[in-house]
Amino acid sequence: MDRPHSPLEPDDALAGLVRRAGLRVTATRLGVLRALAKRPHADAETVIEDVRAQLGSVSPQTVYSVLTAFVGARIVRRIEPAGSPALYELRVGDNHHHVVCRRCRATADIDCVVGERPCLTPSETRGYLLDEAEVTFWGVCPACQEATEHPRAAPHPKTTPAADPPPRTGPHPAAEEECHA
Ligand SMILES: [Zn+2]
Ligand SMILES: [Zn+2]
Repeated sequence: MDRPHSPLEPDDALAGLVRRAGLRVTATRLGVLRALAKRPHADAETVIEDVRAQLGSVSPQTVYSVLTAFVGARIVRRIEPAGSPALYELRVGDNHHHVVCRRCRATADIDCVVGERPCLTPSETRGYLLDEAEVTFWGVCPACQEATEHPRAAPHPKTTPAADPPPRTGPHPAAEEECHA
């Protein structure tokens, strides 16, 4: 389910992002951006694995601090669908929303419903000055629909995830064959 919505950014462009954020370009910072260019909406674990594959050993703490710095510098966006670990993406600066699969947690972008913040106008603002409406649509992705004979699509967007994932079959007991030479 690897469907980056933008073409892979060349390293030069990624290094430019780091510099524009006022940070020094380092291998880890570039590695994190490369990982996110490859896989939008990756969680920190996924980014850590990817950076390790690129650079060899790197401490999770280092990757976490790079991600936090990038989010602070607004070159990376963090989204937190209910019940999921935080997900990171390079698509920043617009007001896009997300659709999340209840079964496999696949996440995809949905362009802003209205086109600009805060996108939705509530019936009542309670005196708050609104600047954002973060919309998460929940449903079942095409792959999961195909994998199920009777998909049950969500009737309307909700802000909470399904209560329980479908039951899974238990793990198979390890089939160990004893080898007598
Ligand atoms: Zn799915
Ligand atoms: Zn997104």
